Amino acid sequence: MSSHEAGSLHAQGQAPAWLEVPEDVNALLTPIWPATAFKPDQVGDAAAKGVLQVGGLTVAQIAEQVGTPAYVIDETDFRSRAQAFAAEFERAFAHLAGAHVHYAAKSLITVGIAGWLAQDGLAVDVCSGGELEIVLRGGILPQRITFHGSNKSDEELAQAMDLGVDLIVIDSLAEIDQVARLAAAGGWEPPVMLRCSIGIEAHTHEFIATSHEDQKFGLSVADGSAMAGVRRVLEHPALRLRGIHTHIGSQIFDTEAFRHAISRMARLTAQIEREHDLVLPELGLGGGFGVPYTTGHDPAGPAEIADGMAGYLERECRAEGIAVPHVTVEPGRAIAGPAGITLYTVGTVKPVTLDGGFTRLYVSVDGGMSDNIRTALYGADYSATLASRYSTAPPQLARVVGKHCESGDIVVKDEYLPADIAAGDLLAVPVTGAYCHSMSSNYNAIRRPPIVSVKDGLLTVLVRRESMDDLLARDLYA
Ligand SMILES: *Cc1c(COP(=O)(O)O)cnc(C)c1O
Repeated sequence: MSSHEAGSLHAQGQAPAWLEVPEDVNALLTPIWPATAFKPDQVGDAAAKGVLQVGGLTVAQIAEQVGTPAYVIDETDFRSRAQAFAAEFERAFAHLAGAHVHYAAKSLITVGIAGWLAQDGLAVDVCSGGELEIVLRGGILPQRITFHGSNKSDEELAQAMDLGVDLIVIDSLAEIDQVARLAAAGGWEPPVMLRCSIGIEAHTHEFIATSHEDQKFGLSVADGSAMAGVRRVLEHPALRLRGIHTHIGSQIFDTEAFRHAISRMARLTAQIEREHDLVLPELGLGGGFGVPYTTGHDPAGPAEIADGMAGYLERECRAEGIAVPHVTVEPGRAIAGPAGITLYTVGTVKPVTLDGGFTRLYVSVDGGMSDNIRTALYGADYSATLASRYSTAPPQLARVVGKHCESGDIVVKDEYLPADIAAGDLLAVPVTGAYCHSMSSNYNAIRRPPIVSVKDGLLTVLVRRESMDDLLARDLYA
């Protein structure tokens, strides 16, 4: 650890408002760590004090088996979240027409994880031929798969229809004709939903309700495309219209946004049913349920979300005079996110003195934006903890950065870490289960980390670390 003048390193002026100076810099802040994670603080074996454990293994044991960086999934946490969403939506909608939970594979999917979902009875959403292949290999039945995407290829659509997937969610007028053409050629009669953009843009803490949305997804309700889409689907006898779908965004905490979406979707369903004298048996309400990445977030749990949506949908459908349709929701992040942590080894530690004498401690780890692009891409907030030992040093405001050639290569913008953090320490970043592995890259020809699951003291490698041969496998001059 570099030495410093008393006071300067501990200036708090530059910390974001939500970030409090911890009373004990070793402590895990509960809402953001997986179910089985803990740090023993009073144990006979002094060496275990303050060492992070997850799934019955210490981080040292995990690092010894697979090295760092590594994505570590708490299997108990992942599966209990998936089961809780499935059970709570089933319960809350039982007195209506029921509800199904479809896990959004794009948040995190491997063949092993698809196997958990298959065993636990969840349906799955995919949005590419690659995701489809992974979930099929994991044992998800085609009847439990929904195919999404805003620019599906003929090949992807034909494969999906040939397999008999449960549903194709159509995203544009052109895709209606594309699906109809392929269905006629293959002799298929695919059930379809139409994805609608309903003028609700949801962000973490607020949402905007407008009549228009300036983005690529879905058929706009405001400009008449959604109703035109319904007419066009009904003109194609091979297409079976099951209902309308919307997905208003991701990492949403504001339940008002979902209420607004339900209200608009119930009204639209009623309008379609009246105009065409039919019943739409299904309503897709998408995913986007927020998770806490830091102590600054406090989202509702699955029971509260399900009860809120069921109650509101029932009221809105009654007001519109229509039967309540069966509902699908598609959480990805809310299942995968909090179940995962990333384990890194600390390398270079560099205090950088800024204007006013404030010093920010830059803590470099052996990964970075290639294994977690969310900070650079969205300005996402994360937390971190010193995972491999107990420290008696005071809290120091730090920034966790990676080893890539970009100054935007930041993993954790702001966190208090023990001031004696040093090369060789293990650092853990929580809530990296969703959209980290699935968005990972080989930038700087960095080999992607393994994903391991841990449970009851056993470690399972779901996806191994990339080798130098993997890295060069497609380079025909290698
Ligand atoms: C991304 C996506 C989801 C999942 O979003 P989360 O924020 O991970 O819950 C669900 N449905 C659709 C259509 C999506 O594009």
